[in-house]
Amino acid sequence: MTKTIFEKIILREIPANIHYEDNEIIVIDDINPTAPIHLLIIPKKKIETLNNIEEDDLKLVGRLFEIAKNMASKFGIDKTGYRTIFNCNKDGGQTVYHIHLHLLGGRSLGWPPG
Ligand code: AMP
Repeated sequence: MTKTIFEKIILREIPANIHYEDNEIIVIDDINPTAPIHLLIIPKKKIETLNNIEEDDLKLVGRLFEIAKNMASKFGIDKTGYRTIFNCNKDGGQTVYHIHLHLLGGRSLGWPPG
């Protein structure tokens, strides 16, 4: 099966700016940031979309938010505010089919999204 970009980053086949890593999760800078801080919090387990999350994955998905919270504090945007996003499938704007939580901050973010 073809590897996703994120699997290649996890396997160090392509470079990324890594901010955090443990046995389950990696955090990198988005290569095309849409805010001054734009991190991707990625589980090492390949789950294609939010639709594919199973009960066994719930703790892992919860950990993505725990790390988002920690990263927001580390990058000093916890008080000013930030946004976490999972895009799902075409209408959700998903382009990489390996779930990842976007963490955006460092500017005022508009609502609703385009
Ligand atoms: P999504 O559209 O929600 O699937 O998000 C995929 C994100 O991955 C986009 O914001 C891309 O800019 C980002 N991306 C694509 N390739 C890379 C890469 N090699 N390193 C870091 N981020 C990437």
